[in-house]
Amino acid sequence: MDNTKRIKELLQILTSAHAPNGYEYESEKIQLCHAELSKYCDKVESNGHGSVWGVIFGGGERKSGKKLLISAHIDETAMMVSEVESEGFIHVVNLGGVDAKTLSGKQVDIIAESDNYIGVVCVNPPHLAVKDKDKAPSLNDLVIDTGYDAKSAKDLFKTGDYVCFSTGFTPLLDNKISAKALDNTASAVAIFDLLHRINKKTLDCDLYLLLNSGEELNHNGIMTSTYRIQPDEAIVLDVSHGLFSGLENNLKHKCGALGNGVMIGIAPILSKNITAKLIKLAADNRIAYTKEIMTGNTGTDAAALCCVRSGIPTALLSIPLRYMHTAVETADIDDIVSVSGLLELYVNEYGKAGDL
Ligand SMILES: [Zn+2]
Repeated sequence: MDNTKRIKELLQILTSAHAPNGYEYESEKIQLCHAELSKYCDKVESNGHGSVWGVIFGGGERKSGKKLLISAHIDETAMMVSEVESEGFIHVVNLGGVDAKTLSGKQVDIIAESDNYIGVVCVNPPHLAVKDKDKAPSLNDLVIDTGYDAKSAKDLFKTGDYVCFSTGFTPLLDNKISAKALDNTASAVAIFDLLHRINKKTLDCDLYLLLNSGEELNHNGIMTSTYRIQPDEAIVLDVSHGLFSGLENNLKHKCGALGNGVMIGIAPILSKNITAKLIKLAADNRIAYTKEIMTGNTGTDAAALCCVRSGIPTALLSIPLRYMHTAVETADIDDIVSVSGLLELYVNEYGKAGDL
């Protein structure tokens, strides 16, 4: 099958499944990731938080015994039911930074004990808005309408039920796609594309591919999984902000243009050594890339991962993404391929005597 078509199909399947924080362990998304890893890896393991990882053991005479970890968080921003009103409308709280101003009028899935149920986020029509009619409502002002009467709603929905966007997957022009949870499904698919590329090759290291829980809230998945794996080096994959029309000029330097390739992170917490090797490999092999300069802790799993055990040298690769933490996140498959292509080069070199 054509590579772009295969990637698009995987994106559609994985973004349609839900993995809100705290629900990863039970989620269909983790089962799908487990199945995809099992196609390529010698061993697949998981933990109670809902992280899953596969390992391809190195072989041959030059096997270095080194462990290289490549990770992508699989959890997504979502909401949680906080109250079912006496009239049957549902109140929610935010999990992981959903952009509340974009929620009005959206369709959502409520993951209840008995089944998943569709709801819509209520909107006050402009005819009835008397004051502040152009002001975006906060999450406190928003409620979900499932159509059920008060008694049925109170029977079906409970405090603590998860609520996720149910936006469909939309292919756009020029290999661009739009869906919920491309943060960070786009990176997970880069890992699966890497696995497809290196399938049946003999590696000089043990390669761990991790799809971890808990990034959007407190990085629990990366810390607990990595404590167990004990890698020698790690590369974290995540999304970063993509340029879009209307962005203020003074913020443009923080964004990468869609289609310009992988964003290679440069920040005080990241390994200068791994980062320099990634930049050289990209430049020498005509892989499209840009440098992403960050002064802080990167806001990703890399901040937690580099401090696990006695410290793990960590690099960060990002995929530019428009409209982060909304129902219409937008990315470019060509950028996902830039990530997997660069990782393939790095993995092929890692562990060779005298090399990386
Ligand atoms: Zn995020």
